[in-house]
Amino acid sequence: RLGRALQIVSAPFGAGSILLLTRDVTQLERLETMRRDFVANVSHELKTPLTVVKGFIETLRDGIGPGAGEIPADEAAHYLSLAADQAGRMQRLIDDLLTLSVLETGAPPPPEEVVDMRALLAEVREEVVALSAGRHDIRLEDSGPAGLRGSASEVRSACANLASNAVRYTPPGGLIVLAWHALPDGGAEYAVTDSGIGIESQHIPRLTERFYRVDRGRSRESGGTGLGLAIVKHVLERHQARLVIESQPGRGSTFRVVFPANRVATA
Ligand code: ADP
Repeated sequence: RLGRALQIVSAPFGAGSILLLTRDVTQLERLETMRRDFVANVSHELKTPLTVVKGFIETLRDGIGPGAGEIPADEAAHYLSLAADQAGRMQRLIDDLLTLSVLETGAPPPPEEVVDMRALLAEVREEVVALSAGRHDIRLEDSGPAGLRGSASEVRSACANLASNAVRYTPPGGLIVLAWHALPDGGAEYAVTDSGIGIESQHIPRLTERFYRVDRGRSRESGGTGLGLAIVKHVLERHQARLVIESQPGRGSTFRVVFPANRVATA
């Protein structure tokens, strides 16, 4: 029956139009599925911490007032600190969602300021040293060009995102190297290498998709929102930079950001 319907439609428009029509419908369906998955993901990601927070609030409420079994102060403080952790998780997710939505819905092009890379990388290093809390050996090799044309806040967020992933996916005692080098073609490269858990090759092409995670539990435990690399991807596109990922499961990963020569500035 489908064959006949196509024939009838194809009579007035010709075979080329049918092909175009089919492709458009498939594309629309794909977008609709992506939108539905995204809404389902966001709802799920918010629902879990919210349920936990609600549970703690109810436990504490039931422990107040005449006749209630009183909750010892140290136990109450423990519940409150767990609830605050979950609220922090929801806050990070909402912050990342807002950042992503601005980037995805046509944010103005990044301001053409000259970013001081030396200062930026020192800040990123400090940030990840704090995140690691002494559990990793973190090194900075900073021999690249002094300046980069683009948005300081966007470039900082991309560099910090990759560096914090290295910390979060590297067991204690591991080595993390942040490197900024000039390239022979006049461009420059920021590379983060870790000696962490690594990634199996089939996952690599999908890592920049929203909410794509190799191990959901591990990402959440380490404070991940599943949106970090999606944000990095958009920021890099806006700076005409490329992301190259190399990894060996169980041995570690390197995330390279390659900036073209026209982004490099002297100071
Ligand atoms: P998340 O918040 O889950 O870390 P990201 O978008 O930053 O989200 O990363 C997506 C997924 O890519 C992570 O869940 C993790 O599985 C994988 N990943 C990212 N960076 C690394 C790394 N340095 N080593 C191993 N896996 C990584």
